[in-house]
Amino acid sequence: MKIVYDSLHSNYRPTKEIDNGRFIENPEKPERIDAIKEAMILHGFDNLTPPGKFPANYVYMVHEESYVEWLKAKSSSTPENEEYILEVFGYDMCFDTGTPILHNTFETAKRAVDVTLTAASIVESGTDTVYALVRPPGHHATRNLCGGYCYFNNAAIAANYLIKRGTDRIVILDLDFHHGNGTQEIFYNTDLVYYISIHGDPKIFYPWISGKESEVGEGPGEGFNLNLPLPPHANWERYSEALSYAVREIRDYYPDVLIISLGFDTHKEDPVGKFDLEDEDYARIAKQISKLKLPTLVVQEGGYNPKSNASAAVNFFSSFE
Ligand SMILES: [Zn+2]
Repeated sequence: MKIVYDSLHSNYRPTKEIDNGRFIENPEKPERIDAIKEAMILHGFDNLTPPGKFPANYVYMVHEESYVEWLKAKSSSTPENEEYILEVFGYDMCFDTGTPILHNTFETAKRAVDVTLTAASIVESGTDTVYALVRPPGHHATRNLCGGYCYFNNAAIAANYLIKRGTDRIVILDLDFHHGNGTQEIFYNTDLVYYISIHGDPKIFYPWISGKESEVGEGPGEGFNLNLPLPPHANWERYSEALSYAVREIRDYYPDVLIISLGFDTHKEDPVGKFDLEDEDYARIAKQISKLKLPTLVVQEGGYNPKSNASAAVNFFSSFE
């Protein structure tokens, strides 16, 4: 299995965010991805591929021009070793106070898009499973707002890329602990992408603004959005019910390509997410999904404990093929 990876992300190190009016440590750090990379190599997944370069128009097809230009300008005007954090809602193009802009935010987020598009192009060329091991993550980024440590929606841009190049039916299965409000919003009015998400109930958990079962899509997109929220401390028994349902939906829909937005913040040792999944549960998840035998692009999203990220990833991919 090819892993598309680029070390540029390790220069990207946000340090803080505002939570309830106080500065706290930002958990979106290079170690969360590099721990996965090291563990994967150690377990024989050593086919690391560097990204190619893709034109910016793939970003503009998903994100509004005014937002992309804002992110570029904000990044370049932020001095090195400083972080711009939105403090007043509605004033800038970010929907929370947890997503700082650094001098290299634009550059790093664009490179994450290139990593994901490289992986998408490998799937397109007929390879079964490819892993885009990226950060910053993407699934919270909307058409015109950053948020939830996300700037460009990597999975959505990859889906759009595949559609533009002739793929008819795509499912994005979002397994991050948090609802992918950005991905849902981007495809809410279209039947080109079926978005399915298993996540912590948004009545209690971030991003609060979306992720309810009643959100089923609109217009031509009606019936192409499925939310499966779960209560806090959902363990394998509870989680597997939702997963089986999602897998049946995917099997019945039978997409040409499956994109998995994979977050390991569902692990019980994760400091941010609040589910109780254990290492071996990621092997069980992978076994269920790989039975579908679909060309699959796995895109890394959240997961904030480097150690549990590493063991979850090894368990997942060892059981996938
Ligand atoms: Zn998450």
